[in-house]
Amino acid sequence: MIIFDTLSGEKKPLLIPESGKLKLFVCGPTVYDLAHIGNGRTYAAFDSIIRYLRSQKIKVFYLQNITDIDDKIINRAKEEKKYPETIANFYTKAYKQDMKELRVDSVNKYAKATSYIRQIVKQIQALIDKGVAYKIESEGYYFDISKFPDYGKLSHRTLEQAEDSVSRIDDAINKRNKGDFCLWKFEKQGEPSWKTPLGSGRPGWHIEDTAITEYFFGPQYDIHGGGIDLKFPHHEAEIAQQESASGKKPMVKLWMHAGHLLVNGAKMAKSAGNFITIRDFLKTHSPTLFRYLVVSHHYRSPLDYSDKLAEQTKNSISNLRQFIGKLRLVRKKESGKLDIAALLKKSEAVFHAAMADDFNTPEALAALFGVVNAVNPEIWSLSQKEAEMVADWLLARLQTLGVELKFPHIPFKIRGLVKQRMLLRNNQQFVPADVLRKEVEELGYIVDDTPVGPLILKK
Ligand code: AMP
Repeated sequence: MIIFDTLSGEKKPLLIPESGKLKLFVCGPTVYDLAHIGNGRTYAAFDSIIRYLRSQKIKVFYLQNITDIDDKIINRAKEEKKYPETIANFYTKAYKQDMKELRVDSVNKYAKATSYIRQIVKQIQALIDKGVAYKIESEGYYFDISKFPDYGKLSHRTLEQAEDSVSRIDDAINKRNKGDFCLWKFEKQGEPSWKTPLGSGRPGWHIEDTAITEYFFGPQYDIHGGGIDLKFPHHEAEIAQQESASGKKPMVKLWMHAGHLLVNGAKMAKSAGNFITIRDFLKTHSPTLFRYLVVSHHYRSPLDYSDKLAEQTKNSISNLRQFIGKLRLVRKKESGKLDIAALLKKSEAVFHAAMADDFNTPEALAALFGVVNAVNPEIWSLSQKEAEMVADWLLARLQTLGVELKFPHIPFKIRGLVKQRMLLRNNQQFVPADVLRKEVEELGYIVDDTPVGPLILKK
């Protein structure tokens, strides 16, 4: 299996550690508001990747942090006249609920930053002891990027380019270098703070991740991921912190970054106001549609979201559902014209080859549609056993990608109306039969007449 590593800019083999368990960390959300479908894209993409790894019997410990202390949370709390902790708790719960709705369930451990203050302080102290962190009176502790010559290696920037960018809570005036970033911010009135040997204050944004990963995984581990916007400065800062604190390189074997979800070519973001919350999205679309949308794009590619794309995705899912629905109607005993076992074996190899090449989910989906296209013209020649084999194979592969194709129960009333319609049609009474078809449609179902009887599907 090969995976694209942002740091080297190359696809690298996935090496399974001696322990047999991959240690993987993905940056979690800052909990100051509801998550949007851009955030959802990153988390669903990683969820599909991890599901696939686990389906290949690779053990993965998936760790994710929750940034529950940050300027954005404090500002929101001020706006709403609430405690920052109340805001953070509320949106942590909301985030976990949203992930549940999206069937993102592969995370083994969510680690809240504020539960690891001791580890954060310990790592900052190590950086001070090594002479790479310094204090600015009344401000806090900062990382001196000039002491880490590798700064910029992930985002492929020179130190000067890297200097030009400052991130959240890093804009102190007395910094040694413009690009130095905050590790510990001293207490300000009305802000949450922790009494520690460093002084009373709170952590900077980047330090929580490395303190948490060092605590759970040690200074070196397998994979670190997140959205592509985190590559710089966040992940660059993490490398500087971890590699300076431990003196061990590399911090991780692979850096994985998911592409952005865009709207009209622009990144979906809270600040841009062009966002759709996961909750709003799920009011009109299913979690299946969302996951299909995600896996029909390569995780590193941008995903330009539009209503039209959602509609196209819905159609692709309907086609699959209709095909599997038809397979379930097959009752023949004798084998058909196709060598189904050989077709599935070949397609299985194509599916895995696509996934083993940097999780190419669109190609993996194409392998599924290869089967649909090969079987469709011959579907009514299949035996029941062959039809079941095809349906089971498709459903299992979709499940591996996190796409749950559900076949809701058809209510008794609908089945009755369809049966009545069939009787009318058999008696050449097409006009009243059509009236019943319309009635069924108005009740939210569609009828597809097949050579072996009607297929009823939910719209
Ligand atoms: P944040 O809460 O801003 O730290 O973001 C949480 C995660 O969502 C990070 O991994 C971001 O990289 C990711 N993210 C934010 N916006 C988008 C977007 N438009 N498309 C994909 N991922 C995003």
